[in-house]
Amino acid sequence: MRHPAAPRPSSAFLTVDLEQPGRQVGFLRIPHSPHDDAWGVTQVPIAVIGNGTGPTVLIEGGNHGDEYEGPIAICELIRELDPARVQGRLILMPANNVHAVIAGQRTSPVDGLNYNRTFPGDPRGTITQQITAFVTDHLFPIADAFLSLHSGGSSLDIMPSAIIEPADDPALRARNIAAVQAFDAPLTVVISNLGDPRTATAAAVRAGLVTVGTEMAGSGTVSPEALAICRRGVRNVLGHLGVLPPEDASPRRGDGRILELPGSAAYVFATTDGIFEPFHAKGTEVRAGEPAGRIHCTWDPRRPPETVTYQADGLLYGRRQPGRVRPGNCCLVVASAYAAALT
Ligand code: CA
Repeated sequence: MRHPAAPRPSSAFLTVDLEQPGRQVGFLRIPHSPHDDAWGVTQVPIAVIGNGTGPTVLIEGGNHGDEYEGPIAICELIRELDPARVQGRLILMPANNVHAVIAGQRTSPVDGLNYNRTFPGDPRGTITQQITAFVTDHLFPIADAFLSLHSGGSSLDIMPSAIIEPADDPALRARNIAAVQAFDAPLTVVISNLGDPRTATAAAVRAGLVTVGTEMAGSGTVSPEALAICRRGVRNVLGHLGVLPPEDASPRRGDGRILELPGSAAYVFATTDGIFEPFHAKGTEVRAGEPAGRIHCTWDPRRPPETVTYQADGLLYGRRQPGRVRPGNCCLVVASAYAAALT
């Protein structure tokens, strides 16, 4: 049992009682006082399904507002899961950056923030920072495990995969790897976000939670194949954690192989302003130094296209969706063999 520090003072409050058994569906309410609503609230949906004794699992979607498979799967659990099948407690949050979700955007139109770069948040900060602070101070300390269900968003199309957030503690790392492999996505990938500590999964690992991420397709749309993988994977993890009966999990399909994004070499960034022409389909095996694509300046035909190259050997794991690029945009992502020791 962990003993968290006292939570920071906050004005946020819940309409559900996290300690009560059965199914409750309500909101995290955060006072929000814009021009047209002096004493109103921002409402972040939250459901709790509790029964008997067992671990507490927090599942979030809508961390980015333009990633859809996870939130759909979470809403289905909220409506359909029989509380009698649960041993422990599920806290289900399908739309955590709710203003971004309603807008169908990656970032919040209220404060411009990317929720997944705001941990540990600020209970006296902007709306997004306050949502983050509530998760940090009130939900992580009572949870044993955390699932953060992402897709590639509007700008990226990613091969459906379950994600391992790196953990320094070898015991937690082993438990995370086991839980992520239980998801049984077609690919399992270690992603460190270049060591950024401000993501939800990095914060959950620091809080000692068993942590599972996903990247389910993307392109700002719903992939039926990725949605099926996500529905199945979430139940597999809940079976693995003992919150759902083992028969709710599906027989293992994958080979357990683990890939990783090899630091900054994973990314092919745009070098100039133009239109990106990719050379390869997702899933292609590529080599460092190999031409990856060209950037055309179609409004200045005198300018020859610029070629960009891969920086790592591996699988072409993700590809930018919009053709239009500016310098620094992420065009391609390569996942390589996982080099680190597993335990
Ligand atoms: Ca995302």
